[in-house]
Amino acid sequence: MSAPLLYEVRESEIHNTGIFAAADMEPNTRIVEYVGEKITKKESARRGIELMEKAKETGDAAVYIFTLNKRYDLDGAKGENPARYINHSCDPNCEAFIERGRIFIYSKKAIKKGDELTYNYGFDLDTWEDHPCLCGSENCVGFIVDESHWPKLRRILKRHAASRQKWLEGEAAKAAKPVKKARKAAKI
Ligand SMILES: [Zn+2]
Repeated sequence: MSAPLLYEVRESEIHNTGIFAAADMEPNTRIVEYVGEKITKKESARRGIELMEKAKETGDAAVYIFTLNKRYDLDGAKGENPARYINHSCDPNCEAFIERGRIFIYSKKAIKKGDELTYNYGFDLDTWEDHPCLCGSENCVGFIVDESHWPKLRRILKRHAASRQKWLEGEAAKAAKPVKKARKAAKI
């Protein structure tokens, strides 16, 4: 007899399908293994490009490839891998660990039955624009990016906001000009 599952898969408010705690859990509980196909970095890169092409067509930018080590990645897109439904959060309650070539999802803190399980996907900064974050946590940075990149991302977002503000002011100035002219014309 196997132990009862610590999770259940159902619809999520964060994104499509999610995984939820089926029981209260202590921190550091091994919840589920992230299983998939072990592939070389070369194959991983090929699939990554394929996914990007698909994302351009369908808008679905789901990534299920996990970095295993310097030589191999794990593609969890196909087959029985409920862990692939775990959503990203900027304030996650779980963490992924690699143990002897296998990936396991552990609770990071105490979790209550019914809570949605999340972890930080640890994405690189170079594709941040493709992965907006909808986690809804108070500290959400707005994009799915590894926490180590947050300070840099915040600087980028600040620059973006500043240039957008400048652009808006420029547009406002352009729009204001005809109004001024009209007023002058009205005086005459
Ligand atoms: Zn977030």
